Amino acid sequence: MAKIDPNFKDEIKKYGAFDFSACYNCGNCTAVCSLSTEEDSFPRQMVRYSMLGLQDEIKTSLKPWLCYYCGECSVSCPRQAFPGELMMSLRRWLTSKYDWTGLSGLLYKSLGAMIFAFIFLTAVVVGFAYYENFEVDKIMKYGHYFEMFAIAGVFAIILLPNIIRMWYFTIVKTKTKVKIGMYFTKIWDLLVHMFTQKRAKDCENNNFRWLEHMVLVFSYLLLLFTTVFLDWFDAENIFVIVLGYIESLFIFIITVDFVKDRIKKNKALSKNSQPSDWFFVIWLLLMGLTAFGVRLFIDLNILENNKWIYLFHLMILAQWALIIVPFGKWTHFLYRSFAMYFAKLKELANLKPASKN
Ligand code: SF4
Ligand code: SF4
Repeated sequence: MAKIDPNFKDEIKKYGAFDFSACYNCGNCTAVCSLSTEEDSFPRQMVRYSMLGLQDEIKTSLKPWLCYYCGECSVSCPRQAFPGELMMSLRRWLTSKYDWTGLSGLLYKSLGAMIFAFIFLTAVVVGFAYYENFEVDKIMKYGHYFEMFAIAGVFAIILLPNIIRMWYFTIVKTKTKVKIGMYFTKIWDLLVHMFTQKRAKDCENNNFRWLEHMVLVFSYLLLLFTTVFLDWFDAENIFVIVLGYIESLFIFIITVDFVKDRIKKNKALSKNSQPSDWFFVIWLLLMGLTAFGVRLFIDLNILENNKWIYLFHLMILAQWALIIVPFGKWTHFLYRSFAMYFAKLKELANLKPASKN
């Protein structure tokens, strides 16, 4: 029997949802949503579940991830119940449920805890640089090791177990019988969604945004590859050097455009930003900018006298790799890709509900 939690409304508001109790169930939001289908109908159903506090139903659902937050439903809601913002808040809430450490929920709900974590990592980076007598070569060498271990460690210790928990909630707990072979034959779907986010293209008037997003994902992943595996800051190959410049420049240009939209609030999807949205986009912007700056200072031979830029870059990198990637908005990129994959598996297992609520 479904368990009703009357306090859920208050809980989900801590993740950024507005007051959705004004909803009178008209269904406009579902009708205007270009991603909602007969088999996977949203966001009205999620608004109802949230009003009733049906936590288990929400936790085992992939629907919040099928929304790409175009904001159309919020614009057309006659009761200002902000269903698009609710879907976004549900994604944050789900992230906290998948996360076995509990840190994701804490950081989403408490700005103070988030700021403390940022300050703590800044102190660690400065303390480490002090310990190394601010010798830039040594700090850069360890910075490079940190990048490698941070990627492997965060993935193995935090992200992989969380994906397994997501799989458990959405596939195992819903008693979906997926044949083992299907996990392999449909892996391509996971990769396509991960690298192209192609479903976002189906959102109303979203082609340019989708393109920006895709270029950003590729630039980010390539810059990661260039700095970690091609050791960009130590590279002498002109192709590698130029490649890194181009990638970081793309990241900077696109994130500046995203920040501009959030400041102007001129699009439905950038009207209501939460601290986690700001941290994500500003830290990504700073990653592109400081990486570009460090390499430029190396090429101009002025890094030795301007060590601060590498320290600043390392500080941003540490905060990005140890806070935003495992516990912040970055995880949405990962969970959404897996949600598409799991949704495909569920569709093939033919166990999805057939009617539109
Ligand atoms: S959220 Fe708004 S548009 Fe959607 S069902 Fe409720 S009142 Fe209607
Ligand atoms: S924000 Fe856009 S994609 Fe998400 S539910 Fe609303 S209309 Fe659909």
